[in-house]
Amino acid sequence: MDNLTCNISSRIMRSFLFVRIPHEYRETMTNLRFYAAALFILLLGASSVDESTARQSGPKLFISVDMEGLAGVVTGEQLGPTGFEYQRFRQFMTDELLACIEAARAAGAGEILVADSHGNGQNLLIEQLPDDIQVIRSWPRALGMVHGIDSSFDGVIFLGYHASTANLRGVRAHTMSSANITGVKLNGVEVSEAGFNAAIAGHFGVPVIMISGDDAIVEEAQLLLGDIEGAVVKWATGFHSARTLTPAAATRVIREKTKAAVERINDFEPYSLSTPVTFDLNLKHYRPVELLGYLPDVERTTSHSIRYVGDNMVIISRFFQFITNYSISIQP
Ligand SMILES: [Zn+2]
Repeated sequence: MDNLTCNISSRIMRSFLFVRIPHEYRETMTNLRFYAAALFILLLGASSVDESTARQSGPKLFISVDMEGLAGVVTGEQLGPTGFEYQRFRQFMTDELLACIEAARAAGAGEILVADSHGNGQNLLIEQLPDDIQVIRSWPRALGMVHGIDSSFDGVIFLGYHASTANLRGVRAHTMSSANITGVKLNGVEVSEAGFNAAIAGHFGVPVIMISGDDAIVEEAQLLLGDIEGAVVKWATGFHSARTLTPAAATRVIREKTKAAVERINDFEPYSLSTPVTFDLNLKHYRPVELLGYLPDVERTTSHSIRYVGDNMVIISRFFQFITNYSISIQP
């Protein structure tokens, strides 16, 4: 119920309750008013229950939000607490998410879970989100950028995503860690973060339905995942440069593509890998590869790469999270 409806209802209630009545009928009228008011409140309650039941019964969505693929992002200045534009870009990140949520809801989506999946995992301005949205924040988390996904979801949306470290193009193209990782393969296929996360969702039978980011990741994701909706909010002209939409124009494209995706949510196939899953990881530095090679389940395949075979994508994700988060000196 919006504010206007609420004001009108209370005005009707007030005029109904405070009409002047002759003395001899007052007791009867007081009782009548009581029952009428109770009925009115019950009806109001019933209509709001209907609304929330309808909302919960629509497609359940998971939205994973990264930052490199937002409109306007080109360098580290937008991407972390020490960048001079970071605080403004947290707002733009939140605005792109809000546009997506609103469009999804308008197209009939039900419950929505959001994962803040960039940097420290604490970028989104959560007080600006609708109060029935919940947010996964910070790290570590076993399923990384899609932690919280399970088979109860109907679709996954990736916002603000970027191309993989293997892509020749793409603003800030990397996979999980630009400082340390130079390649990630699943069952022999090079994947982006979108591909890796799509495979986790695929383990639970949930398809990716839409992605936003630069033209490089939208193309890369569609090549791997098929005909998902793609919202291009900028065009990569280099690793640290792009021709970009304004934040406001980007939210319009995101609304349009989200609507299209939710309206044809039954068209998409989960990205399900055959099991066991072979995970190949190429690292920039020699020493972590040498040490990982000590583990009995890990095969060192080249000077800079290892292979791990896991029963399924949940196991692979836990292994990957361990490698990228563990250090003997982590505290507390
Ligand atoms: Zn990322």
